[in-house]
Amino acid sequence: MKNWWFIRGLRKGIMTEKYPKELPEWSTEIQGQGNANCPTNAIKDEKWIKEKCIFCRRCYPNYKPNLNPRIYTVKKTQPLFKKSFYLYPIDSGSCGGCNMELKLLSSPEYDMTRFGIFFTNTPRHADALIIMGVLTEKMKEVLRKAYDAMPEPKVIILLGACAISGGIIGEGIPLEAAIEIAGCPPNPFTILEALTRVKEK
Ligand code: SF4
Ligand code: SF4
Repeated sequence: MKNWWFIRGLRKGIMTEKYPKELPEWSTEIQGQGNANCPTNAIKDEKWIKEKCIFCRRCYPNYKPNLNPRIYTVKKTQPLFKKSFYLYPIDSGSCGGCNMELKLLSSPEYDMTRFGIFFTNTPRHADALIIMGVLTEKMKEVLRKAYDAMPEPKVIILLGACAISGGIIGEGIPLEAAIEIAGCPPNPFTILEALTRVKEK
């Protein structure tokens, strides 16, 4: 029963997910060999490029998920965020998929607050700008204003293939990011683990 955690939570107190007992197949790392009809050129010389993959499965069965969910790249860490880390999510032109997965982090199942990670409604209180979607003309100025309003130190996080590489429909966000979280959309385990990494020394 899907909601069994809720009943156990009522009986025993708060229950949260420890680590996935069953990992989702997609979006995880993909491995394989041979030709692939990839719409985003995410396979080049038989090497999979996580930042470009939109998980359309056109390369299946030559390329299959290997169930490794760690499809993120941490380029910069900020030890000052170790105790509390406030995120300001911003949608620069998404389909809504990344937004839904990100929102799940505040559910009891994932509970990002146990790691000291919180959402804030204003960039003035934010440590990180978490950007979803391709770069759209009208959001360029909004992104700049949100970033300028944030106090130092601050980092940028790119969430999903659209923000990192433009995915299949556009142009990625041309800003230097502390973390790039691949996937289309990224699964919540991947997002949560990547966010905890940026807080490490
Ligand atoms: S799943 Fe789709 S986008 Fe990803 S490598 Fe395969 S064909 Fe390319
Ligand atoms: S990466 Fe995929 S899920 Fe996220 S906004 Fe782009 S198309 Fe939607």
